[in-house]
Amino acid sequence: MKLHEYQSKFRFAEFDIPIPQGKIATTPEQAYAIADEIGGPVVVKAQVLVGGRGKAGGVKLAKTPDEAMQQAQAILGMDIKGLEVTKVLIDPAAEIVDEVYLGITTDRAARRTVLIASGEGGVDIEEVAATTPEKIVKMHIDPFLGIRRYQTHDIANRVGIHRENWKEFYQIAKGLYDCVLASDATLAEINPLVLTGEGTLLAVDGKMVIDDNALNRQPELAAQRDTSDEPEAETKARESHLSYIKLDGEIGCMVNGAGLAMATMDVVKLYGGTPANFLDIGGGAKAETVATALEIILSDPNVKAVLFNIFGGITRCDEVAKGILAALEEVKPDVPMIARLVGTNEKEGRELLAEAKMITAETLSEAAKLAVQAAQSA
Ligand code: GDP
Ligand code: MN
Repeated sequence: MKLHEYQSKFRFAEFDIPIPQGKIATTPEQAYAIADEIGGPVVVKAQVLVGGRGKAGGVKLAKTPDEAMQQAQAILGMDIKGLEVTKVLIDPAAEIVDEVYLGITTDRAARRTVLIASGEGGVDIEEVAATTPEKIVKMHIDPFLGIRRYQTHDIANRVGIHRENWKEFYQIAKGLYDCVLASDATLAEINPLVLTGEGTLLAVDGKMVIDDNALNRQPELAAQRDTSDEPEAETKARESHLSYIKLDGEIGCMVNGAGLAMATMDVVKLYGGTPANFLDIGGGAKAETVATALEIILSDPNVKAVLFNIFGGITRCDEVAKGILAALEEVKPDVPMIARLVGTNEKEGRELLAEAKMITAETLSEAAKLAVQAAQSA
């Protein structure tokens, strides 16, 4: 789960990371009032869950409350990478002397938390990693020792932070690390961390991703979820306990079991198709869940064929078939659907689907071939 910039920064502040003392506005009038209260130049910042807002025109400087109101008027309602801006953060503008990147994430291969920094702050870190990887500094953190002062001094030195700011930099990196641990975050980043005109460090932008699997023990963070920024299909999938990830292909896949879903996607590719999604309906799915899953798959306009691959164990094939039939009554799909059902109650399941004139297959390769053909001739 992603947190907004303001949510991330307010959280950072709880760990003594210095942030601009800004507030959220949802109307131009509120933006005026906040800017008036701040009293100097401000930045008006679109709160959407994507990066690169600055380049997209979602971050603007305003010298007066009137200007802040105008900028908020322009930014609110704006479309940034497909997301509508409904909130703006009004921060006191910082005088920026230098910008660095500072982030913490998990390095799965190293089985360690890793501190990442770069002197190329402010810009897209993925781009820096792709074009000038030597400008990115990484340091693993020992889980038993925690973050050490010599580590942050070394990093500060390598990204060009002057010695006067090393103590502050240590406190910020330590705060970020504590914040990551306390929040079950898989990513926390400050980009840019700026050196201000006053010679101090300030976290001007913030981003956090919380591990979805930990949300049950992070009720405070879970409550901050903004579903308005989430594709509708994903909200629906989450609420129905389906594991759904949208992909770019044209063959919708409905599978029970994550491993089977991966294998199904591979087989689709083997026969020259591309999967439109990863979808695991889980074990023991009932008809209702199957219906929701099918609605989600069909809501993707790229889908040209749907492939069901169900291995009936705890999940009963007739239960899945009933779900498919129930869904067909509500959403009238105009794409071909191919089903491979094997295992518990497969015979009953196939009979139900045959009545609905669906294409059924005995093996996965047969089903995948049929789905690829169907999608290609669509
Ligand atoms: P992003 O584009 O979504 O990453 O949004 P940021 O919050 O990082 O803002 C983009 C850029 O706007 C930053 O890299 C800064 O160069 C600039 N910016 C943001 N806040 C301020 C500020 O308070 N003062 C000044 N002068 N520039 C700012
Ligand atoms: Mn940024």
